[in-house]
Amino acid sequence: MLTVFGSTALDTIRTPSKILKNVLGGAATFAGISASFFVKTGLIAVVGNDFPKKYHNLLAKYLDLRGLTIEKGKTFHYDGSYDRTLSTRKTLKTDLNVLKNFKPTVPEEYKKSQFVYLANNDPDQNTKLIKEFDKVKFSMCDTIEFWISIKRNAVINMIKSVDAVVINDEEAKLLTKEFNLIKCAKKMMNWGAKYVIIKKGEHGSLMFFDDLIFPSAGFSLEDVVDPTGAGDSFAGAMIGYLASKNSTTFSAIKKAVVYGNVLGSFAVEKYGLDGLLQLKNQDIIQRIKQYEKMIRF
Ligand code: AMP
Repeated sequence: MLTVFGSTALDTIRTPSKILKNVLGGAATFAGISASFFVKTGLIAVVGNDFPKKYHNLLAKYLDLRGLTIEKGKTFHYDGSYDRTLSTRKTLKTDLNVLKNFKPTVPEEYKKSQFVYLANNDPDQNTKLIKEFDKVKFSMCDTIEFWISIKRNAVINMIKSVDAVVINDEEAKLLTKEFNLIKCAKKMMNWGAKYVIIKKGEHGSLMFFDDLIFPSAGFSLEDVVDPTGAGDSFAGAMIGYLASKNSTTFSAIKKAVVYGNVLGSFAVEKYGLDGLLQLKNQDIIQRIKQYEKMIRF
């Protein structure tokens, strides 16, 4: 079993073609649903009592919700706006609400999870939570500018407590205060991460392990409408794939990165979560085949 911990949100997403208000989002939501295509996935998260029943039902279709807490108050709310090119996002608001003082616990049934993903979330909460698992074989975390700018040391501590970091290029630079991605990765490895995966949006990713680098292309798309959650879908697919194979060999991790790129590509083709919600296993298999064809030479 895989456990995913992180934000479950009501998002306001402003794209050039459409504005989505208070739609279901959150890093753990995207990551968990993406992972659920590969393995049984348990969610640990908190929402407020304003969280719509229809979203609760939707989550229940994909995820084990024994770790979902409903607290009095408002659900975490994120408001972000994309520019015309869809490659730059400006954060307009991050309202932590019930996430602010959340004291997460791991349900007994999740404690034996061998794979744990700490999605984008308060790094102090993430670091505390990972210690509650009994049998972790592979753990991974992500972070975002918001946490790097207010809790950089806590982010570094979180990195010390996991096997792998998956982070986007801009955030890797901001966190490590380096400009070159190899230098960024080396710094994160010095902090204690065995694997570092740097996401480069539409351009794919770079994975680092010891002195090895595994570059992987993004799946090229002509029509992108909403990049929200691409990174989370990438990470969810990665760890979901590894959990499904119960493997952490370098070769499995390379394949996992490819699945990450492919699930990320589905996420950006539709608004909000729709890219994942409309997905069938057959679509994943087909796109993996296309991807293989694309990169073979
Ligand atoms: P991504 O596009 O992969 O960076 O992920 C976007 C998701 O992250 C959105 O659905 C947001 O709800 C969530 N998110 C944005 N900011 C934060 C934050 N500071 N902490 C946790 N989750 C966040």
